[in-house]
This record gives sequence, structure tokens and C-alpha cells, in this order.
Amino acid sequence: MSPASAADSDSADRRPPSVDTLARSIADVGLPHPLLVDIARAAIADGAPDDARDRAVARRRQLLTPVINGTGTLLHTNLGRAPIAWEQDATYSNLELDLTTGERGSRMATAPSLIARACGAEDAIVVNNCAAAVMLVLAGLAEGKGVVVSRGELVEIGGGFRVPEVMERSGARLIEVGTTNRTRIADFERAVAEHGDDAGVVLQVHQSNYRIVGFTEAPRTAELATIDRPLVADIGSGLLDSRCGWLASGPPGWLAREPAARQTLEAGADLVTFSGDKLFGGPQAGIIAGRADLIATIARHPLARALRPGSLVLGALQSTALAYLNGDGDSIPFWRMAALSVDDLQARAAALGVGTPTDTESTPGGGTLPEVTIPSAGVASDGDHRTRLRSRDRPIIARVVDGRTIIDLRTVDPSDDAEIAAALSEAR
Ligand SMILES: *Cc1c(COP(=O)(O)O)cnc(C)c1O
Repeated sequence: MSPASAADSDSADRRPPSVDTLARSIADVGLPHPLLVDIARAAIADGAPDDARDRAVARRRQLLTPVINGTGTLLHTNLGRAPIAWEQDATYSNLELDLTTGERGSRMATAPSLIARACGAEDAIVVNNCAAAVMLVLAGLAEGKGVVVSRGELVEIGGGFRVPEVMERSGARLIEVGTTNRTRIADFERAVAEHGDDAGVVLQVHQSNYRIVGFTEAPRTAELATIDRPLVADIGSGLLDSRCGWLASGPPGWLAREPAARQTLEAGADLVTFSGDKLFGGPQAGIIAGRADLIATIARHPLARALRPGSLVLGALQSTALAYLNGDGDSIPFWRMAALSVDDLQARAAALGVGTPTDTESTPGGGTLPEVTIPSAGVASDGDHRTRLRSRDRPIIARVVDGRTIIDLRTVDPSDDAEIAAALSEAR
């Protein structure tokens, strides 16, 4: 037992019985006793013992729980971005065992090698998120050196991912070129000539969550690839291949301007980095894919060990990668939902038999594809029912537009339609 927990139980022994009695009286809330004791003690200290039950319920509702996403935002940042399975039976795995030789194996032979195959890369390595991927690439390839990047791409991408700060933390130095709205290939060439060996890497960052419109110019990946330095493209959003071979209906129109890993590598990028939980449709992860020699260098950096994911994430990524390789977008929940036809959604909305079927607009979300909407359908119900819908055992997350509660069915699994119908009939 650690000293801290020994102290906890000492003080627990001395607690007034009323705390314990109060904690036991709210045991049906379903939290472990030590948490109920904390809540009971705080409620008594605040002179509000009668609040203990509500506080306990509120505390339980902070725990991770499955929710029904009625917002129509496919990659909802507050709802964990892409939908994933997150429970499995406890089991050992061959995480680092080569089953053929019985020798120590590599966890990177699992999901990462499949993802590499699926996007046409020589090799890949996986870390905890895309911010970590960018940091590791720069630490591995440009520690103590300069990274040449356009001033138009020194961006902040949701949740405090600021390209200049990530670069600094990686131990690389920023060599800014061009201007906010216009950067030319000559700007990169001049910087590399000026800095010589000190310019270690050229970095291209996709402007995921905003656009500069009007008088703008930026070199294409193929142009940047002509510079004699490793080219790293942080595409962020994780579209694997712009041809979307995993969708029977082909690439959706709303994807038109999104860079894809395969095509960015074909255009000459040496490495791409992207998130596992955006358009890739898997768990939170950061993927680095591209040249095998660069991946090997990166994998040797001490930070690689600190940033590596475990078998839960690798297992979920592996399932997703196998679905891509099987051309089976239907078994990737994000793509199954993204590809639903409006006709199907309208039919489901009518079949609910409650609320008013209504046309809606879904969004990709997740800090990808700003301004893009996807035609969709759902149901509307007069008034704001969000709090009540959120308080259900399986919370339903809805939007309110013009005084009506809207549930967009694109992001709802059809097996949850009955629950939506039940919740809405209670609302009336
Ligand atoms: C989203 C994004 C990131 C951050 O990805 P996380 O997986 O959330 O860390 C980095 N770069 C780009 C271009 C992005 O779009």
C-alpha cells in the first residue's frame, strides 16, 4: 500500500459515522464506496447533506459511457470523434511475440504495417495522436536543426495543437518562409540554400480547420518534393486514399478538397502524419507513414517509446485497417454513416412515428473540412429537450435550432432508432 492510501484509510477510520451512514444511504447510485464517502463528506461540510444523492448522480455521469449522437456531426470532438467499440473480454495477445519463431516480435508489425499497405507506404509507425506524430517526426529527423515551413501553415488546430509550439518541443527550430497568404516554392529554395545542412526537414501542414481565401498561393506537395530535404506532410485528417475504394458509391463529393495519404505520398512526400480518429475512422492515434529508412530512424528515438500505444488501440486500428484492405467501408462505422443516402435517412425518420421528419445538414466535424455540409435527415420536436435527453441512461445528444430539438439520424446507429422514438414520445 502506498503511503498516500495508508493515510487515506487512517483518516477514513476517524471519519464521523454520519458520513458513512450518508454514503451507505446513497449506495444505489452505483458508485464505489470511497467515492460516495468523499461526496457525503463534502455535502456535510457544505451544510447540504440532502444534496449528496444528486452530487453522486452527477459524479457518476462524469464517467465514460456510451452515448447516442443525434447531432449529425460525424466526428464530434466532445463525443470521441469517430465511433469505436471500446469494450472487449480480457485476453493476452501476441503484442510483442512473433508466433512463427517464438522470439520477441514488434508491435509495429500489427496495425502499422497494414495501414502502410493500405495507403501505399513502405512502412508506418503509430503513436498516441497526430500531435505526437508530428512531434516525434521532427524530434527524430530534425532535433537541433531547422524545419522549413510556410508562414501560412503555422496554424492552431483545435485543443491547443499549435504547430510552432509542437515544433519547439520536438527540439527542432522553426525556419519560417513566405507570408500568411502567399508562399512560393522559391521561398523554400532560398531558405534551404541559406541554412544549408541546418535546414533538416521541409514541413507541409494541411489547413484542416480554416481556409485562407482570395489572394493566396502555396506550393503543391509535388513542388516541395523537388527540394533536397525530407518532406513531411501533416495531412491531419487521415483520408487514406482519395479514390475511396472501400465505398461502393465511390468518393463522396464533400471530400473533394481533402488531401489523402496515398496521393500525398505519390506526389513525393517522404512521410505523412495523420490522426487515427478523424477520416480514418478508428481510435485516437497518430500515424506516421512513408519511407522505411525514415520510419526506422524515427522508431529509434527515445520519444517513440514514450508515445507508443498499447494493444487496445493497436487492436482497434488493426480491425479498421483490415476493413480498408478488404474494401469493406461498411464495417467502419464512420464510413458506414458518412455514406448513408438521404433517402434511407428520410425513410428512417418517417418510420420513427414521432416528431416531425425534417431535412438536416450533417457535418464531418473533428476539425476537418470547414464549411462542408452533408445533406441528411432526422426528426424535429418543438421545444428544447436536450437536458432531458442527456439525462437518460444512454444519453442522447441533440441540437436545438430555432426552438426545435433536432435529431439527425446520420450519426445514429439504426439499432438505436427505437430508443430515439421512445425518448421523443416521453418528451411530449
Ligand atoms: C487534427 C490535426 C492534428 C492534431 O491531431 P490529433 O490527433 O488531435 O493530435 C494535427 N495536424 C493536423 C493537420 C490536423 O488536422
